[in-house]
Amino acid sequence: MATPNPVTQKRLYRNVFICMKCCARLRTDPIRVKEKKVRCRKCGYKGLRPKNRTIKTKG
Ligand SMILES: [Zn+2]
Repeated sequence: MATPNPVTQKRLYRNVFICMKCCARLRTDPIRVKEKKVRCRKCGYKGLRPKNRTIKTKG
């Protein structure tokens, strides 16, 4: 029944961001995050990172 659809998963994760201050999860458009129009609901911090873990500071 619950087959994990990679496309859906990707889309789900793409729109999910984590507050870098309080680690709250937010679902919003990446475009808005890029334009810094999104703030954390919990603490109001503007530093958000995508839930997608491929982006890790390397080097
Ligand atoms: Zn926060």
